[in-house]
Amino acid sequence: MLPYASEDAALTDVLRLSEGMTYKAAAAGLDFGGGKTVVIGDPATDKSEALFRALGRFIQTLNGRYRTGEDVGTSESDFVHSLKETRYLVGLPKAFGGSGDTGDNTAFGVMQAMHAALMHRFKSPSLKGRRVAVQGLGKVGYHVARRAVEEGATVVAADINPHVVGRVASELGIEPTDPWAVVETPCDVLAPCALGNVVNRNTVDLLRCEIIVGSANNQLEDDTLADRLRERGILYAPDFIANAGGLIQVADEIHGYNPERVRHQIEMIYDVLLAIFQEADERGLSTTTVALEHVRRRLDTIHAIHRIRS
Ligand code: NAD
Repeated sequence: MLPYASEDAALTDVLRLSEGMTYKAAAAGLDFGGGKTVVIGDPATDKSEALFRALGRFIQTLNGRYRTGEDVGTSESDFVHSLKETRYLVGLPKAFGGSGDTGDNTAFGVMQAMHAALMHRFKSPSLKGRRVAVQGLGKVGYHVARRAVEEGATVVAADINPHVVGRVASELGIEPTDPWAVVETPCDVLAPCALGNVVNRNTVDLLRCEIIVGSANNQLEDDTLADRLRERGILYAPDFIANAGGLIQVADEIHGYNPERVRHQIEMIYDVLLAIFQEADERGLSTTTVALEHVRRRLDTIHAIHRIRS
């Protein structure tokens, strides 16, 4: 949910996000993807029971071919309203039969990706003594910052909401910085956990990090920027692999939620990314190119076996 400048801007965003969901699901070995919802509106002022019930009615018209839940600008409790109109929801509060907020499992996945990137770059997955810059301290970014501090990193972080930065800085003992400067902060790891397009034509040559790994969807304005990151020696963990933890959690609800199974599946992000980093180096390609090849191969292979009649 965002106050998009126009319907076209919302449409462009939802199409890119939908494509990202397909890749994210394929990379995580899940048979989902292809859809996403955007709601045009300001989360601070435009939320109402009627809005989320109307959204629920649209979701219900798809008869179970589409399920959704919280993301940017929405929280699990918003969808409690939608539940009056549709049962095709995931990530609802535990009291309403869901698996609850996905922020921490997404952050747990980001940490697996961070360890894989550190291992590949520095031959050790440890965060001890590393400097991590977190952009966005919301549902995911807060837990990324907390986990990085717990693992011995120095964390510098920014959020456009000054109250959030103040609260988290005093709770976690992190160094607050300006939301517009965080991307240029010298650090080992830049963790974009706010919105997309953080790496764009204006910022790509200003970055002063060794590694980029975060939760934000569509971190690159376009995929060609992955080549520029490679030329600059910056190791990029493709967002659709690093941020799959929340999707893995809510997809598991469909089989009957099992936190141990979810944790196990999220831990596999480490091995998937390590293999992609190695292959990208061996073939002289960007990590995005190699990751997209992997997911397209899986989509083609699984599509092919579905021709077998059961
Ligand atoms: P959120 O809305 O809870 O938090 C986003 C935070 O970023 C907010 O605190 C906001 O004030 C801040 N922010 C916005 N623009 C900023 C800027 N320019 N600089 C600094 N801070 C800024 O969202 P979230 O659920 O934490 O998700 C964060 C990102 O991760 C999004 O891109 C989302 O699509 C992605 N993601 C989230 C999940 C999940 O489980 N929640 C899963 C996968 C991907």
